[in-house]
Amino acid sequence: PPFSSLSASSAGMVTTDWMQNSTTVTIVLYTRQKGLDARRISTSIDGNFFHTRVYSDDWLRCYDYQIRLAEDVHPFCKPTVSLTTGKVELVLHKKQIALHWQKLGDTEEVCQGFKPLGQAPPFFRRSVLTRKSRVNHNVFLCTLTFPTGQNFHVPVGWHVQLKLCLEDGTEVIRSYTPVTSTLSSCETTDCPSISESPTALHFLIKIYANGPFTSALDRLSEGSSSIEVSNPIGNFVGSQLEGKNLIAIAAGTGITPLVRVAIDVLRSNRRVSLLFFNRTQDDIIWKEEFRELELKYPDTFKSWHVLSEPDDEWPGLRGRISKSVLAATILSEDYHDVGSNFACVCGPSDFTLETLRLLDSVGYTQETVHAFSG
Ligand code: NAD
Repeated sequence: PPFSSLSASSAGMVTTDWMQNSTTVTIVLYTRQKGLDARRISTSIDGNFFHTRVYSDDWLRCYDYQIRLAEDVHPFCKPTVSLTTGKVELVLHKKQIALHWQKLGDTEEVCQGFKPLGQAPPFFRRSVLTRKSRVNHNVFLCTLTFPTGQNFHVPVGWHVQLKLCLEDGTEVIRSYTPVTSTLSSCETTDCPSISESPTALHFLIKIYANGPFTSALDRLSEGSSSIEVSNPIGNFVGSQLEGKNLIAIAAGTGITPLVRVAIDVLRSNRRVSLLFFNRTQDDIIWKEEFRELELKYPDTFKSWHVLSEPDDEWPGLRGRISKSVLAATILSEDYHDVGSNFACVCGPSDFTLETLRLLDSVGYTQETVHAFSG
């Protein structure tokens, strides 16, 4: 290359370096982490601000690197990573070709190596609310689209934080798990895109009249750029489910983390049994879509709806989570092979605790159940 390597700095366990040629500047992170792939690297270019987060191979720890670049770059960066050495190369494209950079920029944040995910400061990226469509009387499907320069992957079962600045200047942050834009997208190109770097994420958001975040969101119109989105957070380990059938037990908006998990299982020709608790028929999110999924996958998808406040006409199951509801559904003969099942649970905390207690009593263990909480 016309220009040679210029400097190297040490940052605890991760060493950084950079180099340039006439068209590109390459930041190199020697993470010494084996088993990394490009999905574990998120990047953000916003003006001359560059952020990258590298997740460890088990996704439990991360390394952050942030710099205000000395010169302008195009908002494009596709990380490459060596599986065997953990060397990460981030190639940035100079706006001014042949300009020789005297320095890379001013480093704003460099971890001293990898740290537990929970200890890493949140990083938020800008987004635009490009779709806000009603799903039922109080739930919206919201699509947040990212400007170019945002490269990140939300693993199945993981969530992000959404940050909204209220009219009085206070910031409110809430966690939401992305879903697919529809359930019928299961076999279309919409689904693979969610496992690639997203240009958009879809969320099912229930509006609570007294909720500061959701009532502010209720007032937003399509085109708003007031929501920022964090890097992915979570502790769900998808490999636990490998080769297993899924027992999905959800209440209310607790269905959201289970959507992508269920679609993943269905796509690998394994069975999904969904037990979904709601107050009334009108509260059931995607009721028709689940029905269509059942028709599409008669051998592998089965759902039961249980209502706690049904009207007189409701022909289905009634009540809350209980031993008898489990016995009539996922514990009935056809579905009760604990050894071949993995259960995922999500809903209000009392609901989740009671469901875990009941599953424990019929032989599910920590290794065969995951509860989404928080
Ligand atoms: P909701 O209040 O409308 O209740 C839905 C159903 O949950 C009820 O019909 C009932 O069957 C059951 N339920 C409610 N309270 C219960 C209790 N104390 N004991 C047993 N069962 C109970 O539900 P909603 O307003 O949609 O709230 C959904 C909940 O799921 C929220 O608490 C939310 O925080 C949680 N959630 C968590 C995650 C996550 O942790 N990743 C994601 C999404 C939603």
